Amino acid sequence: MRILVTDGMDKSAIAKLQEMGHEVVEQFYEPDQLGAALKDFDACVVRSKTKVRANHIDIAKEGKLKLIIRGGVGVDNIDVKYAEECGLTVRNTPGASSQSVAELAMGHMFACARYISIAGHSMREGKWEKKTYGKGIELQGKTLGIIGFGRIGQHLAAMAKGIGMDVIAYSRTKRPEVEAATGVPYVELDELLAKADFISLHSPAATSGPIINADTIAKMKDGVCIINTSRGNNIDDDALLAALESGKVRAAGLDVYPEEPATNAALYGHAMVSCTPHIGAATKEAQKRIGAEVVEIIKNF
Ligand code: NAD
Repeated sequence: MRILVTDGMDKSAIAKLQEMGHEVVEQFYEPDQLGAALKDFDACVVRSKTKVRANHIDIAKEGKLKLIIRGGVGVDNIDVKYAEECGLTVRNTPGASSQSVAELAMGHMFACARYISIAGHSMREGKWEKKTYGKGIELQGKTLGIIGFGRIGQHLAAMAKGIGMDVIAYSRTKRPEVEAATGVPYVELDELLAKADFISLHSPAATSGPIINADTIAKMKDGVCIINTSRGNNIDDDALLAALESGKVRAAGLDVYPEEPATNAALYGHAMVSCTPHIGAATKEAQKRIGAEVVEIIKNF
């Protein structure tokens, strides 16, 4: 097969595909060139930068393209339904990055509790603001509310329990076997909002408006910390910023944004926001596992 890799992939996976006799081309295409480029490939592997939309599929389906693989979890950068209607197969690598994303969420929780991000900036400016940033809180004994209790949420729950947090979860799908295996009880959203000291989002991209908005924030505890490593549109940015400014929300940890690259400088520039540029899955280990899964998908295809 001729395989196009648009957003990079682990080198050992590329070598493996070549050993299997496939031709692999690593090349990013701008949106106006992507459709025509895809015509000449049997398969395409994207991460999050490349968006495969209906207009690209319309052009590509006239050529060789049969398989689109998202190296990662969220497939919101691919018009999946349309691709499948056109006879293409779309696959992703759901479990490969769960631990990495959960660890980043945990990192943001520590950053929110102890001012790690802003204190680092302040020191780089030559300051020693021990009094300002010496007002941390511990995670131990606090309640973590996880919204979306799938793979990543469950990895995070295990770590949070390990440091002595109480964990509760709200999820669209409630699976008794997951509740039994993790020891994390499912609660309704309002109960989670009322009880949690930390709220971490791990549900897919919102389809009917942000889960975290002015109404849901009003139901939270004062001084809550909100972490989002899921998708940017799960939070209403303006409502979060207003709540940070009023002190209702103590701090936020953000890896994902409604627009990427992020445009809301008032939010990600806020002193109580710990932010990263969508790097949840960007670890050596996750990228190796994603590469290995991509190889398996192509082998089986
Ligand atoms: P998953 O499918 O295993 O779990 C998602 C869970 O959310 C499921 O239990 C589902 O029932 C639940 N859910 C769906 N809609 C919901 C809603 N409206 N309210 C509450 N719960 C809802 O997914 P996962 O692998 O754990 O990934 C979770 C999220 O993390 C996805 O949004 C994914 O795109 C994102 N992600 C981000 C990065 C990153 O780099 N930051 C990397 C990988 C995944």
